[in-house]
Amino acid sequence: MTSLTKDFFIGLSNNRLLNANAKKWGFRLGAEKFVAGTTMESVIDTLKELNSRGISGTLDNLGEFVSDKSEASLAKTEIIRILEKINEYNLDCHVSVKLTQLGLDIDQEFCIGNMKEILDTADAYNIFINIDMEKYIHYSKTLEILKNLRNEYKNVGTVIQSYLYRAEKDLKQLRDVRLRLVKGAYKESDEVAFYSKEEIDRNFIKLAKNRLLGDAFTSIATHDHNIIEELKGFVKKNNISKDKFEFQMLYGFRTEMHDELAEEGYNFCTYIPFGDDWFGYFMRRLAERPQNMNLVVKDIIYGKNNKIKKEPIILGTLAVTSVLVWKKKRNKKDKVIS
Ligand SMILES: Cc1cc2nc3c(=O)[nH]c(=O)nc-3n(C[C@H](O)[C@H](O)[C@H](O)COP(=O)(O)OP(=O)(O)OC[C@H]3O[C@@H](n4cnc5c(N)ncnc54)[C@H](O)[C@@H]3O)c2cc1C
Repeated sequence: MTSLTKDFFIGLSNNRLLNANAKKWGFRLGAEKFVAGTTMESVIDTLKELNSRGISGTLDNLGEFVSDKSEASLAKTEIIRILEKINEYNLDCHVSVKLTQLGLDIDQEFCIGNMKEILDTADAYNIFINIDMEKYIHYSKTLEILKNLRNEYKNVGTVIQSYLYRAEKDLKQLRDVRLRLVKGAYKESDEVAFYSKEEIDRNFIKLAKNRLLGDAFTSIATHDHNIIEELKGFVKKNNISKDKFEFQMLYGFRTEMHDELAEEGYNFCTYIPFGDDWFGYFMRRLAERPQNMNLVVKDIIYGKNNKIKKEPIILGTLAVTSVLVWKKKRNKKDKVIS
């Protein structure tokens, strides 16, 4: 994948106007393949079905660009309602949250307060809460908040990204904490992150092996069959109990592997995003894997009823315009730097 393609989709994922418009239009561009539904009610059956196949879930109520306290409070209330539904339907499922959705960029203490309310409910129902890791600008704050929360709650963990140079050092500090290990989804500077796929993969394998030899539970989150095979071999060779880890993949990605791994007796968890704020999430998935673009093209040309629709065309026009503006800005910046 060229870095330009990645930049393009990451640029779109960060575009507030596109995110806001996509919210109004409901699922478009084939997003329903990767986003399970728009409401909690619409994903309960999906979860029941996964559970019946021996697969657990982690629910992510999508939300981007929370800019005031009332939006963050709404997100908190919705997450608490999700926890109540998980308990009511006895679902094998935990919840993933983003601190920016709960007000991290507005007021850190307010964000911690929201997390505590969520953790009180989750604790009462014995549900684990995982804090997704976002862009690097939020990284230190996320770890600081996690440390603060863990003084009171044990049912909370976070995510470590193997593209970060500091990941290994941070994992040492977090050796007792349940964590998810990922490669990392955002575009970061080479001052803080490995850039080449080889280095990121190598670090992922190294960190996963270190975690597997330790005591705390690890979610190994990747669609990379080579890494999964290598780690399966490592687990076997070192007699590591399957109770100490799970594999995680995103909803709609490599679905056949979800079942294969569960049938082989590994704990498997599907990450299930839902909600009407799907655009940024979907664009980040395209950034990782441009092959998913064929869904977008099909939807733009044909739509569901083989009719050309106006919303995707407007969306496409806005996308192209925003990329042109972004490129222009970048050129200007490059000129200033050089
Ligand atoms: C459950 C889960 C939670 C995540 N949470 C976070 C988070 O909190 N923060 C964050 O920054 N990132 C998160 N991510 C994203 C993650 O950081 C990576 O960007 C993403 O998983 C892509 O890396 P990969 O290891 O899956 O595979 P890649 O490195 O993209 O691909 C490796 C190889 O796997 C194969 N492959 C990959 N995908 C497919 C496919 N769909 N079909 C066929 N073959 C495929 C191909 O051979 C490919 O060359 C999460 C990912 C998962 C799975």
